Amino acid sequence: MAASLIDGKRVAAEFRHEQALRVARLLDRGIVPRLEVIIVGEDAGSQVYVRNKARACEAIGIRSRVHELPSSTTQEGLVSLVRRLNDDPGVHGILVQLPLPGPVDPRAVIEAIAPYKDVDGFHYDNVGALVVGEPAFYPCTPAGVIKLLEHEGIAIEGTHAVVVGRSNIVGKPMALMLMRRGATVTMCHSKTRDLGAMTRQADILVVAVGRAKLIRADMVKPGAVVIDVGVNRLSDGKLSGDVDFHGVSQVASRITPVPGGVGPMTIAMLLANTVRAAERAAGTASAVETRIA
Ligand code: NAP
Repeated sequence: MAASLIDGKRVAAEFRHEQALRVARLLDRGIVPRLEVIIVGEDAGSQVYVRNKARACEAIGIRSRVHELPSSTTQEGLVSLVRRLNDDPGVHGILVQLPLPGPVDPRAVIEAIAPYKDVDGFHYDNVGALVVGEPAFYPCTPAGVIKLLEHEGIAIEGTHAVVVGRSNIVGKPMALMLMRRGATVTMCHSKTRDLGAMTRQADILVVAVGRAKLIRADMVKPGAVVIDVGVNRLSDGKLSGDVDFHGVSQVASRITPVPGGVGPMTIAMLLANTVRAAERAAGTASAVETRIA
Protein backbone atom coordinates (compact mmCIF):
# COMPACT_ATOMS: atom_id res chain seq x y z
CA MET A 1 0.00 0.00 0.00
CA ALA A 2 1.35 3.43 -0.85
CA ALA A 3 0.21 5.91 1.77
CA SER A 4 -1.34 9.18 0.74
CA LEU A 5 0.28 12.29 2.08
CA ILE A 6 -1.19 14.48 4.80
CA ASP A 7 -0.13 17.87 3.51
CA GLY A 8 0.41 19.99 6.63
CA LYS A 9 1.66 22.90 4.57
CA ARG A 10 -1.63 23.14 2.68
CA VAL A 11 -3.83 22.63 5.73
CA ALA A 12 -1.82 25.21 7.69
CA ALA A 13 -2.18 27.73 4.85
CA GLU A 14 -5.99 27.30 4.94
CA PHE A 15 -6.00 27.64 8.72
CA ARG A 16 -3.77 30.73 8.59
CA HIS A 17 -6.25 32.27 6.16
CA GLU A 18 -9.05 31.72 8.70
CA GLN A 19 -6.90 33.43 11.34
CA ALA A 20 -6.24 36.34 8.98
CA LEU A 21 -10.02 36.89 8.69
CA ARG A 22 -10.34 36.92 12.47
CA VAL A 23 -7.47 39.41 12.72
CA ALA A 24 -9.19 41.62 10.15
CA ARG A 25 -12.33 41.68 12.32
CA LEU A 26 -10.23 42.74 15.31
CA LEU A 27 -8.43 45.41 13.29
CA ASP A 28 -11.83 46.77 12.22
CA ARG A 29 -12.53 47.34 15.90
CA GLY A 30 -9.18 49.07 16.37
CA ILE A 31 -7.57 46.09 18.14
CA VAL A 32 -4.15 45.03 16.92
CA PRO A 33 -3.32 41.51 18.16
CA ARG A 34 0.19 41.51 19.58
CA LEU A 35 2.60 38.70 20.39
CA GLU A 36 5.78 39.30 22.37
CA VAL A 37 8.50 36.70 21.89
CA ILE A 38 11.45 36.43 24.27
CA ILE A 39 14.61 34.67 23.18
CA VAL A 40 17.70 34.36 25.34
CA GLY A 41 21.15 33.55 23.95
CA GLU A 42 22.36 32.78 20.47
CA ASP A 43 21.16 29.28 19.67
CA ALA A 44 20.90 29.31 15.87
CA GLY A 45 18.00 26.85 15.75
CA SER A 46 15.95 28.88 18.24
CA GLN A 47 16.65 32.07 16.31
CA VAL A 48 15.30 30.48 13.12
CA TYR A 49 12.15 29.27 14.93
CA VAL A 50 11.57 32.72 16.44
CA ARG A 51 12.07 34.47 13.10
CA ASN A 52 9.61 32.11 11.41
CA LYS A 53 7.01 32.71 14.11
CA ALA A 54 7.42 36.49 13.86
CA ARG A 55 7.15 36.38 10.07
CA ALA A 56 4.00 34.25 10.22
CA CYS A 57 2.45 36.73 12.66
CA GLU A 58 3.20 39.77 10.52
CA ALA A 59 1.83 38.01 7.42
CA ILE A 60 -1.68 37.92 8.90
CA GLY A 61 -1.62 41.26 10.70
CA ILE A 62 -0.52 40.19 14.19
CA ARG A 63 2.10 42.61 15.47
CA SER A 64 5.05 40.75 16.92
CA ARG A 65 8.04 42.01 18.83
CA VAL A 66 11.09 39.87 19.50
CA HIS A 67 13.09 40.56 22.66
CA GLU A 68 16.60 39.25 21.95
CA LEU A 69 18.40 39.01 25.28
CA PRO A 70 22.01 38.01 25.98
CA SER A 71 22.70 34.62 27.57
CA SER A 72 23.88 36.46 30.70
CA THR A 73 20.24 37.50 31.37
CA THR A 74 19.22 36.53 34.91
CA GLN A 75 16.04 34.78 35.98
CA GLU A 76 14.98 37.93 37.87
CA GLY A 77 15.52 40.03 34.74
CA LEU A 78 13.44 37.65 32.65
CA VAL A 79 10.64 37.40 35.19
CA SER A 80 10.48 41.17 35.51
CA LEU A 81 10.24 41.55 31.69
CA VAL A 82 7.43 38.96 31.63
CA ARG A 83 5.59 40.83 34.41
CA ARG A 84 5.90 44.11 32.50
CA LEU A 85 4.37 42.43 29.44
CA ASN A 86 1.61 40.91 31.62
CA ASP A 87 0.71 44.41 32.77
CA ASP A 88 0.63 45.88 29.25
CA PRO A 89 -2.98 45.70 27.99
CA GLY A 90 -1.74 46.06 24.39
CA VAL A 91 0.09 42.71 24.64
CA HIS A 92 -2.10 39.65 24.04
CA GLY A 93 0.39 36.80 23.86
CA ILE A 94 3.76 36.11 25.48
CA LEU A 95 6.07 33.35 24.33
CA VAL A 96 9.41 32.44 25.89
CA GLN A 97 11.48 30.42 23.43
CA LEU A 98 12.84 27.26 25.09
CA PRO A 99 15.37 25.99 25.98
CA LEU A 100 16.72 28.82 28.14
CA PRO A 101 20.50 28.82 28.53
CA GLY A 102 22.44 28.85 31.78
CA PRO A 103 21.10 28.51 35.29
CA VAL A 104 17.68 30.10 34.59
CA ASP A 105 14.80 27.88 35.73
CA PRO A 106 12.42 27.80 32.75
CA ARG A 107 9.51 26.80 34.97
CA ALA A 108 9.90 29.96 37.07
CA VAL A 109 9.75 32.07 33.91
CA ILE A 110 6.77 30.24 32.41
CA GLU A 111 4.83 30.44 35.66
CA ALA A 112 5.38 34.22 35.63
CA ILE A 113 3.39 34.52 32.37
CA ALA A 114 -0.27 35.44 32.92
CA PRO A 115 -2.16 32.24 31.96
CA TYR A 116 -4.46 34.20 29.60
CA LYS A 117 -1.38 35.41 27.67
CA ASP A 118 0.37 32.01 27.68
CA VAL A 119 -0.15 31.21 23.99
CA ASP A 120 2.27 28.26 24.17
CA GLY A 121 -0.02 26.58 26.71
CA PHE A 122 2.82 25.65 29.08
CA HIS A 123 1.64 27.44 32.26
CA TYR A 124 0.39 25.05 34.96
CA ASP A 125 -3.10 26.61 34.76
CA ASN A 126 -3.31 25.71 31.08
CA VAL A 127 -1.75 22.28 31.61
CA GLY A 128 -4.28 21.56 34.37
CA ALA A 129 -7.16 22.75 32.20
CA LEU A 130 -6.07 20.36 29.46
CA VAL A 131 -5.95 17.46 31.91
CA VAL A 132 -9.54 18.05 33.05
CA GLY A 133 -10.77 19.05 29.57
CA GLU A 134 -11.55 22.72 30.20
CA PRO A 135 -11.06 25.44 27.58
CA ALA A 136 -7.54 26.84 27.73
CA PHE A 137 -4.50 27.49 25.62
CA TYR A 138 -3.21 24.10 24.61
CA PRO A 139 0.32 23.34 23.35
CA CYS A 140 0.57 24.20 19.67
CA THR A 141 2.20 21.05 18.26
CA PRO A 142 -0.27 18.44 19.55
CA ALA A 143 -3.17 20.83 18.92
CA GLY A 144 -1.88 21.10 15.34
CA VAL A 145 -1.82 17.31 15.01
CA ILE A 146 -5.46 17.11 16.14
CA LYS A 147 -6.39 19.83 13.66
CA LEU A 148 -4.66 17.87 10.87
CA LEU A 149 -6.45 14.62 11.75
CA GLU A 150 -9.82 16.38 11.90
CA HIS A 151 -9.23 18.29 8.69
CA GLU A 152 -8.41 15.03 6.90
CA GLY A 153 -11.55 13.36 8.27
CA ILE A 154 -9.54 10.75 10.15
CA ALA A 155 -11.71 9.24 12.88
CA ILE A 156 -10.14 9.21 16.34
CA GLU A 157 -12.93 7.81 18.50
CA GLY A 158 -12.59 4.11 19.18
CA THR A 159 -9.13 3.83 17.61
CA HIS A 160 -5.98 2.64 19.31
CA ALA A 161 -3.55 5.56 19.24
CA VAL A 162 0.09 5.02 20.15
CA VAL A 163 2.18 8.06 21.08
CA VAL A 164 5.97 7.61 21.10
CA GLY A 165 7.61 10.27 23.30
CA ARG A 166 6.37 11.64 26.61
CA SER A 167 7.63 15.23 26.67
CA ASN A 168 5.55 17.93 28.32
CA ILE A 169 5.29 19.90 25.10
CA VAL A 170 4.34 17.14 22.66
CA GLY A 171 3.87 13.55 23.86
CA LYS A 172 1.91 14.03 27.09
CA PRO A 173 -0.55 16.66 25.82
CA MET A 174 -0.91 14.65 22.59
CA ALA A 175 -1.99 11.58 24.54
CA LEU A 176 -4.51 13.63 26.56
CA MET A 177 -6.04 15.21 23.45
CA LEU A 178 -6.39 11.84 21.72
CA MET A 179 -7.87 10.23 24.85
CA ARG A 180 -10.34 13.09 25.18
CA ARG A 181 -11.53 12.35 21.64
CA GLY A 182 -12.21 8.73 22.48
CA ALA A 183 -9.00 6.99 21.44
CA THR A 184 -7.48 4.27 23.58
CA VAL A 185 -3.98 5.58 24.06
CA THR A 186 -0.70 3.80 24.67
CA MET A 187 2.31 5.94 25.52
CA CYS A 188 5.84 4.80 24.73
CA HIS A 189 9.21 6.25 25.73
CA SER A 190 12.86 5.37 26.07
CA LYS A 191 12.14 2.70 28.69
CA THR A 192 9.49 0.91 26.63
CA ARG A 193 10.73 -2.68 26.23
CA ASP A 194 9.51 -3.75 22.81
CA LEU A 195 8.66 -0.56 20.94
CA GLY A 196 7.69 -2.37 17.74
CA ALA A 197 5.20 -4.60 19.58
CA MET A 198 3.49 -1.40 20.80
CA THR A 199 3.62 0.64 17.60
CA ARG A 200 2.30 -2.29 15.53
CA GLN A 201 -0.98 -2.04 17.46
CA ALA A 202 -1.56 1.57 16.43
CA ASP A 203 -4.39 2.68 14.20
CA ILE A 204 -2.96 6.19 14.71
CA LEU A 205 0.76 6.41 15.43
CA VAL A 206 2.23 9.74 16.59
CA VAL A 207 6.00 9.86 16.93
CA ALA A 208 7.75 12.68 18.82
CA VAL A 209 11.18 11.48 19.84
CA GLY A 210 13.98 13.30 18.01
CA ARG A 211 15.70 10.25 16.50
CA ALA A 212 15.89 10.06 12.72
CA LYS A 213 14.08 7.08 11.18
CA LEU A 214 13.45 5.36 14.53
CA ILE A 215 10.16 3.95 13.22
CA ARG A 216 10.66 1.45 10.40
CA ALA A 217 8.08 -0.18 8.13
CA ASP A 218 8.04 -3.41 10.17
CA MET A 219 6.93 -1.41 13.24
CA VAL A 220 3.74 -0.14 11.59
CA LYS A 221 0.39 -1.89 11.15
CA PRO A 222 -0.75 -1.96 7.51
CA GLY A 223 -3.23 0.86 6.95
CA ALA A 224 -2.21 2.90 10.01
CA VAL A 225 -2.19 6.70 10.04
CA VAL A 226 1.33 7.90 10.86
CA ILE A 227 2.06 11.38 12.20
CA ASP A 228 5.74 12.27 12.35
CA VAL A 229 6.51 15.14 14.72
CA GLY A 230 10.29 14.65 14.78
CA VAL A 231 12.69 17.07 13.14
CA ASN A 232 16.26 15.80 12.79
CA ARG A 233 19.17 17.23 10.81
CA LEU A 234 21.05 14.46 8.96
CA SER A 235 24.79 14.55 8.29
CA ASP A 236 24.11 15.57 4.66
CA GLY A 237 22.25 18.64 5.95
CA LYS A 238 18.79 17.31 4.99
CA LEU A 239 15.88 17.15 7.43
CA SER A 240 14.40 13.83 8.48
CA GLY A 241 11.53 12.92 10.73
CA ASP A 242 11.48 10.17 13.36
CA VAL A 243 9.84 7.88 10.80
CA ASP A 244 11.55 6.15 7.89
CA PHE A 245 9.27 7.89 5.42
CA HIS A 246 10.20 5.81 2.38
CA GLY A 247 9.62 2.43 4.03
CA VAL A 248 6.66 3.36 6.21
CA SER A 249 4.76 5.01 3.39
CA GLN A 250 4.60 1.55 1.73
CA VAL A 251 2.66 0.23 4.76
CA ALA A 252 0.64 3.14 6.21
CA SER A 253 -2.58 4.52 4.70
CA ARG A 254 -1.80 8.17 5.52
CA ILE A 255 1.48 9.82 6.54
CA THR A 256 2.85 13.29 7.25
CA PRO A 257 6.10 14.32 5.54
CA VAL A 258 9.04 16.11 7.21
CA PRO A 259 9.29 18.94 6.42
CA GLY A 260 5.79 20.05 5.46
CA GLY A 261 3.74 18.01 7.92
CA VAL A 262 3.34 18.91 11.57
CA GLY A 263 5.78 21.88 11.59
CA PRO A 264 3.58 24.35 9.66
CA MET A 265 0.60 23.36 11.83
CA THR A 266 2.52 24.25 14.99
CA ILE A 267 3.02 27.81 13.81
CA ALA A 268 -0.57 28.07 12.59
CA MET A 269 -1.82 27.02 16.03
CA LEU A 270 0.38 29.65 17.68
CA LEU A 271 -1.29 32.28 15.48
CA ALA A 272 -4.71 30.90 16.42
CA ASN A 273 -3.89 31.04 20.14
CA THR A 274 -2.68 34.63 19.79
CA VAL A 275 -5.79 35.68 17.90
CA ARG A 276 -7.93 34.00 20.53
CA ALA A 277 -6.04 35.80 23.30
CA ALA A 278 -6.78 39.11 21.57
CA GLU A 279 -10.45 38.16 21.07
CA ARG A 280 -10.75 37.24 24.72
CA ALA A 281 -9.21 40.55 25.76
CA ALA A 282 -11.69 42.30 23.45
CA GLY A 283 -14.57 40.21 24.80
CA THR A 284 -15.40 38.69 21.41
CA ALA A 285 -14.21 35.08 21.83
CA SER A 286 -17.12 32.68 21.62
CA ALA A 287 -17.40 29.60 23.83
CA VAL A 288 -17.00 27.43 20.74
CA GLU A 289 -13.85 29.25 19.64
CA THR A 290 -12.27 28.70 23.02
CA ARG A 291 -12.53 24.92 22.58
CA ILE A 292 -9.84 24.19 20.05
CA ALA A 293 -8.17 21.06 21.33
P1 NAP B 1 12.11 15.47 24.10
O1 NAP B 1 11.64 16.40 25.14
O2 NAP B 1 13.57 15.22 23.92
O3 NAP B 1 11.38 14.07 24.33
C1 NAP B 1 11.72 12.96 23.57
C2 NAP B 1 10.91 11.77 24.04
O4 NAP B 1 11.29 10.65 23.25
C3 NAP B 1 11.16 11.39 25.49
O5 NAP B 1 9.94 11.11 26.13
C4 NAP B 1 12.02 10.14 25.40
O6 NAP B 1 11.79 9.20 26.42
C5 NAP B 1 11.54 9.54 24.10
N1 NAP B 1 12.55 8.68 23.50
C6 NAP B 1 13.87 8.91 23.34
N2 NAP B 1 14.47 7.86 22.74
C7 NAP B 1 13.50 6.95 22.53
C8 NAP B 1 13.51 5.66 21.97
N3 NAP B 1 14.60 5.09 21.47
N4 NAP B 1 12.34 4.99 21.91
C9 NAP B 1 11.20 5.54 22.38
N5 NAP B 1 11.14 6.77 22.94
C10 NAP B 1 12.29 7.46 23.01
O7 NAP B 1 11.59 15.89 22.66
P2 NAP B 1 10.32 16.79 22.20
O8 NAP B 1 10.53 18.19 22.59
O9 NAP B 1 9.05 16.10 22.55
O10 NAP B 1 10.50 16.70 20.62
C11 NAP B 1 10.52 15.46 19.94
C12 NAP B 1 10.83 15.69 18.47
O11 NAP B 1 9.81 16.50 17.92
C13 NAP B 1 12.14 16.44 18.21
O12 NAP B 1 12.68 15.98 17.00
C14 NAP B 1 11.70 17.88 18.05
O13 NAP B 1 12.58 18.62 17.23
C15 NAP B 1 10.39 17.66 17.33
N6 NAP B 1 9.42 18.76 17.51
C16 NAP B 1 8.83 19.20 16.38
C17 NAP B 1 7.88 20.20 16.47
C18 NAP B 1 7.21 20.65 15.23
O14 NAP B 1 6.54 21.65 15.24
N7 NAP B 1 7.32 19.90 14.14
C19 NAP B 1 7.55 20.76 17.70
C20 NAP B 1 8.15 20.27 18.85
C21 NAP B 1 9.10 19.24 18.74
P3 NAP B 1 12.16 9.48 27.98
O15 NAP B 1 11.08 10.40 28.47
O16 NAP B 1 12.12 8.15 28.59
O17 NAP B 1 13.53 10.11 27.98
